[in-house]
Amino acid sequence: SKEMLQSLKGKEDITLDGKKIKLYANIGGVKDVASVLANDAAGIGLFRSEFLYLEAEDYPSEESQFQAYKTVAQNMAGKKVIVRTLDIGVDKQIGYFNLDHEDNPAMGYRAIRICLDRIEIFKTQLRALLRASAFGNIAIMYPMIISVNEVRQIKEIVEYVKKELDVQGVPYGEFEQGIMIETPAAVMISDLLAEEVDFFSIGTNDLTQYTLAIDRQNMKLDNIYDSHHPAVLRMIQMTIENGHKHGCWVGICGELGADLSLTKTFIRMGIDELSVSPSFVLPVRKNIRETKLS
Ligand code: PEP
Ligand code: MG
Repeated sequence: SKEMLQSLKGKEDITLDGKKIKLYANIGGVKDVASVLANDAAGIGLFRSEFLYLEAEDYPSEESQFQAYKTVAQNMAGKKVIVRTLDIGVDKQIGYFNLDHEDNPAMGYRAIRICLDRIEIFKTQLRALLRASAFGNIAIMYPMIISVNEVRQIKEIVEYVKKELDVQGVPYGEFEQGIMIETPAAVMISDLLAEEVDFFSIGTNDLTQYTLAIDRQNMKLDNIYDSHHPAVLRMIQMTIENGHKHGCWVGICGELGADLSLTKTFIRMGIDELSVSPSFVLPVRKNIRETKLS
């Protein structure tokens, strides 16, 4: 019941046998922080930063991005805020990017591919994020990763931005860096990728799309777009195992993380974090607290 769920506010996200889970929420803008706090999430596991770009008429400035990230970090008062860097493409269109038409946009020029090609856009976002990290517990997450080389390129750019801020005497804090695991390639090399970053967050929306070769936006295929497919579940398991063996904590931020029929399964697999829509925080908390592993 509604009262039952409300009574879970302030309670720990812990199983009956004492395994603690980080239960975070997904947001798409600064105004969503209110519902994260209202639903008592322990942090933000996915801040989809593309909304800042989608709402703007032109490339958002470093200052405007800094203000947005800083506001979210401050409002979360020391709780973790994982910001995902720009994830757009022809499927999430932005006029001023002037992207060419593509026949297969889901497999096209998007997300980190754009950022590593148009580095100035990426650097502006990173500068804003690093500056905001001085005001709260910011972590940075990179989307659509398929190779170790991409992660190394990203880390080089981050180091460059740090040096630039150092020279300018601009402060920044400590921040974790992680990647989304949302391509089968990333899953298959997750042991190698884990050596490069602090955490993984599994994007089950895209991971299902790319694993099953089913366009997630094609309504005609809704009946076979099956995130419970054993191939998807095995990929999640493999990612968790490789992450843990190589020093990463592992979460899920795709819709499947809020699937109440799978909470126990994910905990058995060893998941460390679940990031869900704010309205799912308390229902998932209820499930976590009813789970017994032994
Ligand atoms: C995902 O792919 O599961 C994900 C969380 O990212 P998005 O839905 O924004 O692509
Ligand atoms: Mg995705």
